[in-house]
Amino acid sequence: MLKRVLVIGVGFMGGSLCLSLREKFKDLEIFGIDLKEEVIRRAKELCVIDEGFTDYSRLRDVSFDCIFLATPVRTFTDIAQRIRDFKAYLISDLGSVKGSLVYRLEEILGERFVGGHPIAGTEKSGVENSIRGLFEGKRFIITPTERTDQSRKEFLKGIWERLGSEVEEMEPFLHDFVFGVVSHLPHLVAFCLVDCVRELSREINLFKYTGGGFKDFTRIAKSDPVMWKDIFLENGENLLKALKTFKDSLEKLEELVREGREEEIVEYLKGARECLLL
Ligand code: NAD
Repeated sequence: MLKRVLVIGVGFMGGSLCLSLREKFKDLEIFGIDLKEEVIRRAKELCVIDEGFTDYSRLRDVSFDCIFLATPVRTFTDIAQRIRDFKAYLISDLGSVKGSLVYRLEEILGERFVGGHPIAGTEKSGVENSIRGLFEGKRFIITPTERTDQSRKEFLKGIWERLGSEVEEMEPFLHDFVFGVVSHLPHLVAFCLVDCVRELSREINLFKYTGGGFKDFTRIAKSDPVMWKDIFLENGENLLKALKTFKDSLEKLEELVREGREEEIVEYLKGARECLLL
């Protein structure tokens, strides 16, 4: 079913995809492209890819069943321009933002493109942290449009189901609202919290005294800055709307604390806690 694939961006997600594909599709040939020679060298050493390049022209005449984009989302349209003449049945991605980006990629790549987003990952980045089986039991969102070719969509669905993912379809703009709220906002808040503690650490190093609560809350602030800069900017509109609601909630609780309104504070906290216990 899958004989030859190309993964562009052989970092944590690209590398995890390669390892997972290799396990599930026997005799699969895996090619990689990355910005950095060093990444290609490491990926070959770790048997993540069979062959890799930094130069796109080396692969122009090779036929692929599928090409996956696994670089930061703001690089996608430039990469799509570079591979528009590549021979591939399907071109897909692992990007965390969809929305108008899907339509821009469709514009460049035509019906070969079908967008996707694996809801799996960690705060780690880089090919050396790749995990075989990362996508097992995780959700994979396909974001078709009215232009999407049905056979290619089914083909993509088949690949991710073989990797053990539960595949769900979602409209690209709805995807960005949903993940803007449940993923992008929490990352932004985690980065801000760490920044706040740094700001308050002028006289005493507060990081020395952090415990489980702080670590649980801020693990995701160890994530790659370039990847998250791209997500924040590409999904800026949804993120800013969600942030507005977050600020309103924060101000509400701030007022209750300032005015010492005990019962209302308990009600507020109970309301939040109950959402998680459902
Ligand atoms: P990463 O930093 O580990 O890997 C990115 C790789 O892309 C690096 O090897 C980098 O050298 C390479 N790269 C950067 N720009 C490039 C370019 N212009 N051309 C070629 N190579 C380039 O990041 P990651 O965590 O693997 O994330 C990759 C993608 O997966 C992002 O689009 C992200 O939104 C998405 N994603 C990440 C997670 C996660 O938990 N990390 C989860 C779901 C989706």
